[in-house]
Amino acid sequence: MTYTDERFPGVTFRIEAEQDSEQVRGNALASGDKDEDRACEDEIIERLDNGDVWAWASVAVRASLDITDPEDEGAVIEFEGTDYLGACSYADEADFAQQGGYFDDMKSQAVDDLRAAMRDAVERGAVARIALDAVPTDAMTSPIASPDLTSCRYCERAIVNEDGAWIDPMATGDDSVWRETCDAHDTFEADHEPTDA
Ligand SMILES: [Zn+2]
Repeated sequence: MTYTDERFPGVTFRIEAEQDSEQVRGNALASGDKDEDRACEDEIIERLDNGDVWAWASVAVRASLDITDPEDEGAVIEFEGTDYLGACSYADEADFAQQGGYFDDMKSQAVDDLRAAMRDAVERGAVARIALDAVPTDAMTSPIASPDLTSCRYCERAIVNEDGAWIDPMATGDDSVWRETCDAHDTFEADHEPTDA
């Protein structure tokens, strides 16, 4: 089944559980009472023997977002992010998904991961655009110009040489990402430097 969350409009969530590879004995409960711990472990192991993975599960919460390409209605691009949690013991999926439990926090983490995947796609897109501009239309008869594109040895962002200066074409204009100076130096006075220089 799928889930939504009003904090994250448009995002679809799924829960996947498989038996955790971690050993049950010694890891399920630490009540301070050995007999109680043992009884709890016995119950979990019996449920696992019956194929009930929710007794001792590694849980993945997946956040996905489908975007329809505005220039091609038939094309849907899916982005996905995931958060994992091990050593989970629940009655079933519905028990895990109850409000106020780990699921709420894991949905946030999965959305963070989803945003990271999208940010990565944006950066790859910017790099592809620069590379595309460097390739002549008639590639058969014209030599392919090597794009003045590399990555910064300090911040590892894609940088391009513009009039002798290495700049970050993806700089946002706000204070978090700089165009000509490299914040990974721990000083804003130094420039980006290409990896292969
Ligand atoms: Zn840099």
